[in-house]
Amino acid sequence: MPQRIVLATHNAHKVAEFQAIVARVRPDLVVSGYDGPEPVEDGVTFAVNALIKARAAAHHTGLPALADDSGIRVDVLGGAPGVFSAYWAGHRKDDAANRSLLLDQLSDVRDPHRAAQFVSVIALVLPGGQEHTVEGVWPGRLATAERGTGGFGYDPIFIPDAQPSASERTVGEWEAQEKNAQSHRARAFERLAPLLSAL
Ligand code: IMP
Repeated sequence: MPQRIVLATHNAHKVAEFQAIVARVRPDLVVSGYDGPEPVEDGVTFAVNALIKARAAAHHTGLPALADDSGIRVDVLGGAPGVFSAYWAGHRKDDAANRSLLLDQLSDVRDPHRAAQFVSVIALVLPGGQEHTVEGVWPGRLATAERGTGGFGYDPIFIPDAQPSASERTVGEWEAQEKNAQSHRARAFERLAPLLSAL
């Protein structure tokens, strides 16, 4: 009997990415998107926002619930956009506008100072009330222009570290599978895996 777990997001890209990651440790676990009432995400850390979303989904469905809160931190901006990543260019939640603003803000910043990290905090809330959070960080730097059409959000302007320098690509140029194996969510998930196995 497949076991169900809900993922508190309306982002179809994230559901697919999560299902692929979850399947590697728990092939019996079916991830479904949670489409109930959305809580106000008024935390100022990834962990608090992830917990707010997971609690709402667990409460509404009676199932174990996962929520990811994620974003990009840019060193020279003191960690911004951070929890404001989705709305960096305003409340329209416009990925292209967010990327364009960030590139513009860093237009005079040279390569060695363009370090950035994708960060993901995953919260797991069980119907009994137990709560856990785990964090994954994917280090890299910002490109100077968009490249690639894959993924979503800041993918076309983020160049992960640890690539051969002659063939460096933005995540927008990566295959989905390659991203799923290395991303901030995959890294957070590695830490979540023992908790899921024990479900
Ligand atoms: P949230 O966790 O759904 O609130 O997402 C925050 C924002 O961070 C998204 O709208 C994206 O702009 C950005 N983000 C999070 N994860 C990724 C990723 O894997 N690639 C690109 N952008 C991301």
